[in-house]
Amino acid sequence: EQRDPNQIEFKEAAFEVLDNLKPVLERHPEYIKRNILGSLIEPERVFQFRIPWQADDGSFKVNRGFRVQYNSTIGPYKGGLRLHPSVNLSIVKFLGFEQIFKNSLTGLPIGGGKGGSDFNSKGKSDSEIMRFCQSFMTELQKYIGPDLDVPAGDIGVGGREIGFLYGQYKRLNGSKPGILTGKGLDYGGSLARTEATGFGLIYYLNALLNGQSDKLAGKKIKISGSGNVAIYALQKATELGAKVVTMSDSDGCIFDPNGIDLDVIKQIKEVERGRISEYVKRVETATYSLDSVWDLDINYDIALPCATQNEINEKQAGLMAVNGVKYVAEGANMPSTPEAITTYKKHKIIYAPGKAANAGGVAVSALEMSQNSERLAWTFEEVDKLLKNIMESIYAKSAQAAKEYDLGDDYQAGANIAGFEKVARAMYQQGLV
Ligand code: NDP
Repeated sequence: EQRDPNQIEFKEAAFEVLDNLKPVLERHPEYIKRNILGSLIEPERVFQFRIPWQADDGSFKVNRGFRVQYNSTIGPYKGGLRLHPSVNLSIVKFLGFEQIFKNSLTGLPIGGGKGGSDFNSKGKSDSEIMRFCQSFMTELQKYIGPDLDVPAGDIGVGGREIGFLYGQYKRLNGSKPGILTGKGLDYGGSLARTEATGFGLIYYLNALLNGQSDKLAGKKIKISGSGNVAIYALQKATELGAKVVTMSDSDGCIFDPNGIDLDVIKQIKEVERGRISEYVKRVETATYSLDSVWDLDINYDIALPCATQNEINEKQAGLMAVNGVKYVAEGANMPSTPEAITTYKKHKIIYAPGKAANAGGVAVSALEMSQNSERLAWTFEEVDKLLKNIMESIYAKSAQAAKEYDLGDDYQAGANIAGFEKVARAMYQQGLV
């Protein structure tokens, strides 16, 4: 609290975890003695740097870049790069901190990191995006490496940006596919990486519903966002027989009582890079509104926030209870405010936190690293099957930890505890204090 008084998002993420870890520390006084939490809360290393680039009109711009190498106890730092005007050190630290537990939950040997820039890609030409990415990588390449730190995509960073970043890395250092994940299939990318976070979210949700003796088919779902995570959550949920009735972007949201049409969404968002409002011009049954999707007063069963942090407040969580929502599973990182989470619990809405439910993206990124190391490319079916197994095991680990500590259906605490236990054991063994 005293060290980082202005880092609101970071403190939110950190306090949530620390609070959930109290019963673990009671059982493990040796962690207190070694000050494991003191080490865990402080990043191993933080880089902040200048990113100068030139716009198409000839003007000179400067953005701020970050890379936080949070914790390498169980493997190389791993976590995405975010490009959004809201990016600052607090945002990058909260994401990097969450990434430690998420990566641990996957069961794969990856540590936690995150990076990004306050660059706004909206309205920029391909050439501007390329020049920005080249300048970003010119500095970032000094700090990363296939066994050291392997960045990936996040908000504002998809296949196009990863391609430009990788191209610049290669010009400076030669071919090293293991340096980034989320690469194109033609130069070392993994099949199913694009789909991984959205598909993984639905695999997790399915496991959660099975655990409650419930099922996904026939359920009515609200999704927020219309980016990478939202689109592939829509695809898998629809395939498994659920009906997704909303999507959104930062301007507004659409409601389609017949179920959102995946092909129309992919055309608008992936081909044309357009806005979600375009949908209502093409699908008659749909309506558009400037409200948040969480203010839309309709009955539904499952909420899948897939846009950004703190998008659901206490009042909106209260409306979920009124609307009959039974489950919230987070595709985005920390989309629910602490007050919203308290409201879910008060109304017995089962809550699956992002660090468990959206771990599919980083899991397949780690599988991409494996394929790069052995210079092989696995089939879509192989990767998808591993992804499904990993998401089911994340649910099982979280449920098991909740049971072990007598926490009922608290999958938030379960995920924090299960993610922490592996890292804490490894830190203790390595004497990293
Ligand atoms: P994209 O950039 O593909 O899409 C982001 C979506 O969220 C867009 O629809 C965007 O709308 C909306 N959004 C972003 N910021 C805001 C905001 N401040 N207010 C309202 N809407 C906003 O990102 P992703 O789909 O990759 O990421 C979405 C979330 O999922 C993030 O929290 C990310 O950290 C998390 N995540 C992503 C993973 C991945 O593999 N991609 C892995 C794990 C988690 P607009 O176009 O108007 O900005």
